Amino acid sequence: MNPNSTKKTPAAYGIIGMPLGHSKSPLLHNWGLRECGLPGRYEAWPTEQGNKLKAFVAEAKIRRIKGVSVTIPHKQAIMPLLDALTERAKAVGAVNTLYWENGKLTGDNTDVLGISAALAEWTTTNPNNSKISSAVILGAGGAARAACMALKDFGITDIAVANRTPGKAKCVARELVVRAIPWEERMNNAEQGNAPWGLVINSTPLGMQGKDEALTPMPAEALTGVTLVFDLVYNPIRTVLLKDAEAAGCGILSGLSMFLHQGLAQFRIWTGKELSPAHARQLLLADMACMSK
Ligand code: NAP
Repeated sequence: MNPNSTKKTPAAYGIIGMPLGHSKSPLLHNWGLRECGLPGRYEAWPTEQGNKLKAFVAEAKIRRIKGVSVTIPHKQAIMPLLDALTERAKAVGAVNTLYWENGKLTGDNTDVLGISAALAEWTTTNPNNSKISSAVILGAGGAARAACMALKDFGITDIAVANRTPGKAKCVARELVVRAIPWEERMNNAEQGNAPWGLVINSTPLGMQGKDEALTPMPAEALTGVTLVFDLVYNPIRTVLLKDAEAAGCGILSGLSMFLHQGLAQFRIWTGKELSPAHARQLLLADMACMSK
């Protein structure tokens, strides 16, 4: 945030994180503001950890910034700096949205809604294929925490978390009441006689544009028999994991659906307005098509 900004319209909304170069949130929210004829802009505010984050929150309170998206690496560190947390943010243990409620700067988590809405969309278009009883979540960060909660809401009872750093998976398992399994044992469901997982969710950056793009968190041979593979990475839309999953005959879901729905939920919280998911999706797909040319 630049307090000395000379632009006439003050930025009312924005995103904090580091790095932010990849974020499509400014595109989505500025489009939404224009669509609804609302004043203000949505900006990217690259913010480092520690004192810079504290200073940002203090300034956001003074300037009464209307809405903030929070991304890596601040989703957990920002929690003690806020006036209030929603029950959902407390339960997940991570915040991705700031808004004002009763004069208090409040933290919420719309990543849960994003994952739930993406799964619901998939179920609608695959009604014969929607009975999923087990899931493995790869990674144990903020997105994995949101996934645990969304999968419970979706009715999945057997949820395992596998992470490169085992202590973090154990922590998520304890707090979100799921089970932790070793990273090396993520390929199939040992508790069910090594059966394939019903659902595999990638919540690591493996496959994301940049240095990790050629990587995948799951060997291709472990995907045979999996009903649905959901990659939370949305850039590129078809990651190596999703290409492997398609080749193995699994259903696939890109992180773009999650991104879209978590963003529309933020916009609703800040403005009370509903945006068209279909138009928002078109906007994002068109932008990503341009970027890949
Ligand atoms: P995070 O809190 O930083 O967690 C990242 C997780 O990935 C950690 O558990 C980390 O393991 C693991 N990891 C990192 N590099 C790895 C590697 N080389 N091999 C194996 N595991 C590795 O991040 P987050 O907020 O949960 O986000 C995770 C991913 O989800 C992001 O990269 C993003 O693409 C995606 N995401 C998508 C949306 C959306 O709207 N579609 C929203 C949020 C996040 P350690 O604990 O061992 O470090």
